Amino acid sequence: MTGAPRAIAISNLDLPDAQQLLLHDCEDCACPVSATADSPLAAAALAPAADLDGPGRWVRGREVISVGLDADHQVLFNPVGHGGAVVVNEEAQRIFRCFQEPVTFGDAFREAGPGPGREAEVRDLFRRLGQLELIHPEGADERPELPRGEVLTAWLHITNACNLRCPYCYLSKTAESMSEDTGRASVDAVISSALREGYPAIKLKYAGGEASLNHRHLVGLHAYAKERAAAAGLQLQATLLSNGVSLPAGLIDVLRSESIRVMISLDGIGAAHDAQRPFVSGRPSFRQVERTIASLVGKGYGPHLSITITGRNAAGVPDVVRFALDRDLTFSLNFFRDNDQAAGLPDLQYEEQAMIAALLGSFEVIAGRLPRWSVLGSVLDRGQLLQPRERSCGVGQDYVVIDQRGRVAKCHMEIERTLGDVFRDDPLQLVRRDTGPGTAQNLPVTEKAGCRDCTWRYWCTGGCAVATFRATGRSDIKSPNCNIYKAIYPEALRLEGLRLLRYAAPAQAAAGRP
Ligand code: SF4
Ligand code: SF4
Repeated sequence: MTGAPRAIAISNLDLPDAQQLLLHDCEDCACPVSATADSPLAAAALAPAADLDGPGRWVRGREVISVGLDADHQVLFNPVGHGGAVVVNEEAQRIFRCFQEPVTFGDAFREAGPGPGREAEVRDLFRRLGQLELIHPEGADERPELPRGEVLTAWLHITNACNLRCPYCYLSKTAESMSEDTGRASVDAVISSALREGYPAIKLKYAGGEASLNHRHLVGLHAYAKERAAAAGLQLQATLLSNGVSLPAGLIDVLRSESIRVMISLDGIGAAHDAQRPFVSGRPSFRQVERTIASLVGKGYGPHLSITITGRNAAGVPDVVRFALDRDLTFSLNFFRDNDQAAGLPDLQYEEQAMIAALLGSFEVIAGRLPRWSVLGSVLDRGQLLQPRERSCGVGQDYVVIDQRGRVAKCHMEIERTLGDVFRDDPLQLVRRDTGPGTAQNLPVTEKAGCRDCTWRYWCTGGCAVATFRATGRSDIKSPNCNIYKAIYPEALRLEGLRLLRYAAPAQAAAGRP
C-alpha cells in the first residue's frame, strides 16, 4: 500500500431513498417539467456502466465545475449531465484529473499510479465518474436529455375570496366562488386534455383566493376528480394552497386521508409575516397561521411552507427557514413578482444585494440544521439543481389555470387574461395556442439572449417568463434576477455537498464500498 487515502466520490446514489429526498415541486408555481420520485425518468438518469477494459477513450466533461467544500473535499457538478452534485476528496480529484485529455481507463490507471492493492477501489471510482457523467466517452454529445412533462397541472380557483389582504397579491378579489358544476366541468376538461395529449398523471392545485373558505366544495370536487381520474386510468396528485389562517380539524383529517398535500404561505416570524400578510381588517395573521401549522404537525401531516421574499421581509427570511427546519418541514423560497395590484408599494421591490444576503443567510441556517431532503429543488426561486430542463415552469406547455367561472388562463399571475373556457374549449390547447406577440412566452432557455452560454442554463432556464416580460417587455432575454441567481447557485451546491457528506457518506461506508 502507498499510504495514500482512499479515493472517495459520494453522490445521491449512496442514499437508498435518494429519490424520495428530492423535492421537485415548489408548490408555488407550475413547477416543473421534471421527473417525480417514482417516474421512469428518475431511474433513467444514470449513464450506463463504462466498459473499463475496452479500448475506448474517456474524457472529463467540458463544463464540469468544482466548488470548495472544506479542507479535504470539493463538489463536482456537470451542468450538462444528470449526475448531480458529487463530493470528492483530494485523492479522487487527483485521479479525476487523469481525464483532462482523452485517455483509456488502462492508461488512466497507470497515470493515477495508485499502488498495489487498490485496483478495485480505483476501478470503482472510474465506474462512478462515468455513471455520474463527470467523464464521458471521447466525442460523445455533451447535451443533457431534457424530459417531457409527465404531469398535466391545473390550478383550480376554488374561490376568488380571501380573508387576507397581502400587498403583493396579484388578484382583484371578489366574493365569488366556483360552483359545483363549474368545478366538475373543469375536472372533466383537464382529464380530457390529459388523455388527448397522453399524460399519465394530472395534478390539481386547489387554490384561490383562499381555497379553504370553500372547503366543502373542495372536498366534494376532489372526490369527483378521484373517481374520474381512476376511470380514465390517470394518476391523480392534489395540493391545497392555503394562507393557513384557519383549517378546521375535520378538514385536516380529510386532507390527510385523501393525501391532498398542504402548502401554507408563511413569510416570516411574527411581525415579518404580518408586515405582508394581514387580515382584511389589517389585523396580524401570524398567530393563527402558526396554530394551523402546529395542528397539521400535531396530526402528523406537516405542510410545505412557501416563503415569498420581498424588500419588506428579506432580512427575516433566515428566521422562517429556521422555524421550518426545527419542525422538519419542507419549504420553498420564492421571489416577489411584480404585478399591477402591487404597483405603488415600492418597499416590496427588493435590492439585489439584500436578496443575496437574505438567501445566503438562509443557506447558513440550512447548513447548521441540514435536512435529509435536498434543498436544491426549492431554495432557488424558479431555478433548481436536481434535473436539467429547458423551461422554468410548465406555462404554455403542461399547465392550465381555471378561474371560478371556468375561464382558462395561461399562468395564475395572468388569471384575468382569459383565453376561453372549460365548457367549450380544450384548456391545454388554449394555452398552447397563446403564442401571440405582446404576451409573455415561456421560451426554451436556448432562445434567451444572455442565457445560451451560461453555465446554469439548464438549471436556471432564465427565470419566470411572466416576471421577465413584465420587467423587460421581452420573453427572449435573461431574467432580471440573473445576478442573484449566479451568486446563489454555487452556494446551493455547497449545501448539497454538506448534505451528502452528512447522510450519504455514512451510507456509503456502511455499504462497504471498495
Ligand atoms: S438568467 Fe442568468 S443565471 Fe439564469 S440561465 Fe440566464 S444567464 Fe444564466
Ligand atoms: S410564468 Fe412565472 S409565475 Fe407563471 S407559473 Fe411560470 S414561473 Fe410561475
